[in-house]
Amino acid sequence: MITKTTPSLHCLNGKSGENNADGQQARTVKRDWQTALSEAIRDPRELLTQLKLPVSLLEQSSLSPTFPLRVTQSFIRRMQPGNPLDPLLLQVLPLNQELKDTDWGSLDPVCDQHAMQGPGLLHKYQGRVLLVSTAACAIHCRYCFRQHFPYQQANPLGSQLPATLAYLNAHQDIHEVILSGGDPLSLSDERLSRIVEQLDQIPHLKTLRIHTRLPLVLPERIDANLLKWLQATRLKVVLVLHINHPNEIDQEFAESIAHLQLPGVSLLNQSVLLRGINDSAEILVSLSHMLFEVGILPYYLHQLDKVQGAAHFEVPAETGVKLLAEMRHKLPGYLVPKYVKEIPGEPAKYPIFG
Ligand SMILES: *Cc1c(COP(=O)(O)O)cnc(C)c1O
Ligand code: SF4
Repeated sequence: MITKTTPSLHCLNGKSGENNADGQQARTVKRDWQTALSEAIRDPRELLTQLKLPVSLLEQSSLSPTFPLRVTQSFIRRMQPGNPLDPLLLQVLPLNQELKDTDWGSLDPVCDQHAMQGPGLLHKYQGRVLLVSTAACAIHCRYCFRQHFPYQQANPLGSQLPATLAYLNAHQDIHEVILSGGDPLSLSDERLSRIVEQLDQIPHLKTLRIHTRLPLVLPERIDANLLKWLQATRLKVVLVLHINHPNEIDQEFAESIAHLQLPGVSLLNQSVLLRGINDSAEILVSLSHMLFEVGILPYYLHQLDKVQGAAHFEVPAETGVKLLAEMRHKLPGYLVPKYVKEIPGEPAKYPIFG
């Protein structure tokens, strides 16, 4: 249960979370987000030790050189020590299973590379354009469908920014720009505010959408500098978070996200249906309730994109359809996400029905 909090700006950079349950000094001063980000764990051995799990689990752990372990301290604090099947741990711990299923899936399951109109610029659907803004993420999700994306060659907001802006200017039917990634909020506020200022100048743009996991896995990211440019833009802002399990929502996140309850800002969530993590109606129902409690509405529940290395996370669509039916019985309509799948070539995310 999350208790209601009153957001106030000064507490963003002030004291928070003085004591934990043991009465120890947990975090006295909220650090800046770059420092918190630099403390992300990259060594599986360190993660397991911190979680009081036997390092022998490492025998099952692969060290992927291209997509290594990465997880923030804040996310680790929400894991249950001693539980090798913790639903948050399973999202980030590289396992040898990933290397075994090379016949399953592809490197580019949603055909991003065919849909690129410019480097990192995806114009698949009418009226909206998605920019693969950066390779960087605060957390590496093992099932990520863009884990093999050629970010280096495709950076629409770096040296390619003039070309990206020219494309947006030339296409008057585009009214929404989606910053995706990687995680767009891993870019600095200086950079983001300069980009958004330029988007503001394009008269036919109405909406700025940001697909991000950072406010969740690094609550420090929601600071006064972020709020400043989010409130300065004339565009409507839609923040789409990515939360898969109710355990991801804790008090620290609830307090941080409260600062984003701003006029002109909508908060939505997308989840991926993942075997062993959230493939139960009870968990999904609880997730919807928790999201609503902290001011976020469920948007999409995605069928897993078949990216190489993620076969062990797949839930059959027939199971997904049953889960959705159960959710509809137990939840008000506005808390039931749309169950969708991305099919290359389709003009929108494809709804999955029974
Ligand atoms: C998913 C996606 C969008 C957003 O689709 P919505 O249904 O509007 O959420 C836009 N562009 C691309 C390339 C996408 O993959
Ligand atoms: S946060 Fe998003 S983009 Fe980054 S690894 Fe996870 S799923 Fe992929």
